[in-house]
Amino acid sequence: MTTHGKSGTGPLAQHHDRYSLDGLFLRYLRGQIRIFWPRIGFVALVSLVLGFVVSPLAGVLGMTVASTAEVIDGLYLRYARRKVEQGADTRALRIVSTITALLHGTAFAVGAATPFWVSSLFGDGGQQAVDPVFTVGLLAGGAINAGLTYPFHKPAAIVRLCAYALTPILILATGRGSFDDMGFHLQLAGLLILYGALIWHLTFVVRSFSRIRSIMLTQALQQQELEGAYQRLLSQQVEAKRLALVARHANDSVLLIDQNNKVQWVNEAFTRITGYSFEEIQGREPGELLNHPQTNQDTLDKLIEGRRARQPFRLEILNRHKDGHDVWLETNQVPILGNQGGEMSYIAIERDMTAAKQNAQQLEEARLAAEEGGRAKSDFLATMSHEIRTPMNGVIGMAQLLEETDLDGDQRLYTNTILSSAKTLLALINDILDLSKLDAGQISLNPCNFDLHQCLEETIQLLLTQAEAKGLTLEVERDVDLPRYLVGDDHRLRQILNNLVGNAIKFTEKGRVKVSVEMEPAQDGGVLLNCAIIDTGIGIPKDMLTGIFERFSQADAAISRRFGGSGLGLAISRRLAEAMGGRITVTSEIGSGSCFTLVLPFALGSTAEATALPNQEPKGGNDGLSGERILVAEDNRVNRLLIQKFLKDASVELEFAHDGAEAVDKAKLFRPDIILMDISMPVMDGLEATRIIRASGQSQPVIVALTANAFDSDREACLAAGMNEFVTKPISKSQLLEVLASFSDIQGVQLTG
Ligand code: ADP
Repeated sequence: MTTHGKSGTGPLAQHHDRYSLDGLFLRYLRGQIRIFWPRIGFVALVSLVLGFVVSPLAGVLGMTVASTAEVIDGLYLRYARRKVEQGADTRALRIVSTITALLHGTAFAVGAATPFWVSSLFGDGGQQAVDPVFTVGLLAGGAINAGLTYPFHKPAAIVRLCAYALTPILILATGRGSFDDMGFHLQLAGLLILYGALIWHLTFVVRSFSRIRSIMLTQALQQQELEGAYQRLLSQQVEAKRLALVARHANDSVLLIDQNNKVQWVNEAFTRITGYSFEEIQGREPGELLNHPQTNQDTLDKLIEGRRARQPFRLEILNRHKDGHDVWLETNQVPILGNQGGEMSYIAIERDMTAAKQNAQQLEEARLAAEEGGRAKSDFLATMSHEIRTPMNGVIGMAQLLEETDLDGDQRLYTNTILSSAKTLLALINDILDLSKLDAGQISLNPCNFDLHQCLEETIQLLLTQAEAKGLTLEVERDVDLPRYLVGDDHRLRQILNNLVGNAIKFTEKGRVKVSVEMEPAQDGGVLLNCAIIDTGIGIPKDMLTGIFERFSQADAAISRRFGGSGLGLAISRRLAEAMGGRITVTSEIGSGSCFTLVLPFALGSTAEATALPNQEPKGGNDGLSGERILVAEDNRVNRLLIQKFLKDASVELEFAHDGAEAVDKAKLFRPDIILMDISMPVMDGLEATRIIRASGQSQPVIVALTANAFDSDREACLAAGMNEFVTKPISKSQLLEVLASFSDIQGVQLTG
């Protein structure tokens, strides 16, 4: 759609609007409307002349014909102007206005020729020949006028010109004279000259118009450019004002430094940060006032190097405030070229980092303190664990020995109570130790190829008695194609299952506990073990479902007290599962039961490598032992007594050393097959003693660490010192015999250190 809508606001756009088809048309309409009344006046005047000179009838007819067409054309042009100004499509308007122009042109021509047609139609004007000068003069005037409108509305101008041009020819053709008449020839020649003059006039109009148009275009372009430049200048001014405002009021200090490193300008923040006013620093090098005796020389060198390289750079530098206190600044310096391109100056934007530096320092101190605290906690736990384990070894060991003697009912009850209490205490110590290892990230996993089926059976077997004692059914549902051998830390798997199934039994009064085990392939080519432990117990309140995995957290203190427990099991289990790359989740319904889901990734194992865990019943008496020489290095009297009692019936030769140094001596003299080596001993510890024994040329015994130090790091240290096995206290008689029996096979084998 062609509309007379403005295409823009700039001078160029205005120019295009003026000279577009629609713009020209509008200008035509406005021009014609402007001269409407003068034209009517002209028609009236001419009609008056006709009335007087030719006849009143000619005057009336001429006026009627010409002014009717004038009014029709004028009214339509007004209507068209309104439409164009409203943005209507101009195509139809231009066509109709061409028709009204034709009507108007024809009527004007008819009006101009009134003397001829009135005299021939009504015989008015007598018999004298009518001179065409009046008609031709009028038509020529009309043609000049129509020619002027040509650039604005070509079709309208053309139809008018045609009407004006044809009329004299018609008059000539229908005249009374003969074609051979000289008068006719002269009139024809005059007419042609007139046409020529009109064509020349038209050409002149068109050329002037296009010249004006191109001048206007040039002007519009220049004006546009001027306006653009003005706008740019204006926005640069605004930008400069803004920048000045930002620089002046910025929180960071801003310095302008010339190529000689002299300060040209600083903002208010500079004074706020350094204490120096603009007047004090102006024309001086910043370092003169700001450098601190402890300002790092490397930093200063980097600053000089940065300037030399004419590159932006960033540094943290220690400065001194005017009042003497330290100020840490982060300086960002950017080079700027002067107008001639040679003179280089710098903008330095400096941020006060003092508080941030102090915070970082405090944080670092806090971190070190926390690390120190963590170390102290670990040391404390290690010491406590050791210190508690040592007497526990005595308590449990002696209680076990007591249990083997002839006891009456009460005595047996007391002994059993001592034993079970001691074991509970030991489990608690183990839990706390595990948790502190997990906290310290010291838990190490010992993956091996293990028999999953055996692992599950043994774990369930251990808990079966508890379940039966409560009248619960404990069932295991295994996936039919559950693989048998997996690679992973089965010891930790047992620990987690033990806790989850143990809890299920503990918190279920009646009904059943079901353990369902499934396996699905994992993305890494391994498998995901999926164990669901479902019980029909008391359930867990919804709002406690996440809380129960926190340490020392119990869903309901009163209920939990009834069932017993420390609130550590789930915290340890979840963190162990996470350390193994898996997770534990829970769903539960109060009164209906709970479902704990354990998901752990494992690699698939193989039959050949599977390591059967010691599962044999403790060998009674001297099973598997045949006169081995055993040296026990132990500083604690009770523990020495205990081992002596444990091995009283075993066919072994026993010797004791009270410290590491004595152990080294006795290893030479006594030539033991196996040494049970405590670690923490006076004079010389067990690790040192082991190293010396291993370094000696003598035949090498099996050395088993028997220690209350239970951390993985202790185990690693023992193995690194050259020991063969690591056993933690408290140790039971059966365990001791089992360990000794396992090494009796290799006794006599020469071990090299
Ligand atoms: P503990 O059992 O020694 O208190 P846990 O960390 O193993 O510690 O469990 C934390 C708490 O979670 C328990 O005290 C108990 O309130 C809740 N809980 C754990 N397992 C179950 C279960 N199967 N049914 C109901 N409550 C459970």
